Amino acid sequence: MKVLVTGGAGFIGSHVSDMLIANGHEVLIVDNLSSGKRSNIPKAADFMEMDVCSESLVDVVRQMQPGAIMHLAAQIDVRKSVEDPVFDAHVNVLGLVRLAQAAMVAGVEKIVFSSTGGAIYGEQDFFPADEHHPCRPVSFYGASKLCGEVYLDTFSRVFGLKWVALRYSNVYGPRQDPHGEAGVVAIFSGRLLHAQRPRIYGDGLQTRDYVFVTDVARANLMAVESDIQGVFNIGTGIETNVCELAALMSKIVGFNEKPEHLPAKAGEQMRSSIDAGKAHREMDWKPEVDLMTGLGKTLEYFRNHL
Ligand code: NAD
Repeated sequence: MKVLVTGGAGFIGSHVSDMLIANGHEVLIVDNLSSGKRSNIPKAADFMEMDVCSESLVDVVRQMQPGAIMHLAAQIDVRKSVEDPVFDAHVNVLGLVRLAQAAMVAGVEKIVFSSTGGAIYGEQDFFPADEHHPCRPVSFYGASKLCGEVYLDTFSRVFGLKWVALRYSNVYGPRQDPHGEAGVVAIFSGRLLHAQRPRIYGDGLQTRDYVFVTDVARANLMAVESDIQGVFNIGTGIETNVCELAALMSKIVGFNEKPEHLPAKAGEQMRSSIDAGKAHREMDWKPEVDLMTGLGKTLEYFRNHL
């Protein structure tokens, strides 16, 4: 199938593109390279440097006639969304609306949207959160992703567009960006590989649900190749706190000094973990890479790219 991947020069989008190509799909990447890198783009993919908010997007989609669109391009920085909610909404809401409209004009069947399980639920009432947990984002990034889902649902009712939103927990792995939702793994990697102590803000008991990037890419592949529709959590359901993460990563690189503790950052979410039982039941997806293995692969990647 022909698949258009927005944000394919980024961390997760490049792994999604690699996996689509490995499974025989033809990939066109649209990316404005604001945080993505040319070096991430698979050689077998076509590439167009373009903003998803651009009016010409519709011509690109019409010309390519993809069977499906994987939408990963986004403003991904939670803190930046709080500082500049207008920019966040411009990229994450208007970019998605433009893409969905272009999809309708070009007769695209399905959009697979990268949403967030880490930021959409807010402070959770129960752990892990399933898809029925109330959505109470505590950042405009979480709000703009939720808004994207509402738009896709409305496009589906008005025009019959098929859509899937994959709500990832905190994605980590090779090529990851330190500004993303699991940025701490990239930041600790950088410090440990330079023999510097990891820096922990607050007591380090904040938890996150870390899911490895190839597991996330596989969920995208399954979503585009199957008939499923709707919202699916993609995570492990396992909570790991920052102190545990620092200890695991220190152990892998053989670093023996204790982390440095700094004052807590205001407004940081305390705990997060999501239940991917629905993805398991309806698309036969479950995570395959455990945290220790995934962290080992990530550290190896950063060691080779210092
Ligand atoms: P990333 O920054 O590595 O990738 C985003 C890509 O989108 C980059 O290549 C960037 O250049 C491109 N981009 C940004 N704005 C654009 C625009 N206006 N037009 C065209 N291209 C644009 O981030 P990532 O971590 O790979 O995130 C991919 C997707 O997954 C995002 O939608 C993000 O919100 C979502 N997500 C990520 C995580 C995580 O833990 N990393 C968790 C939940 C959801």
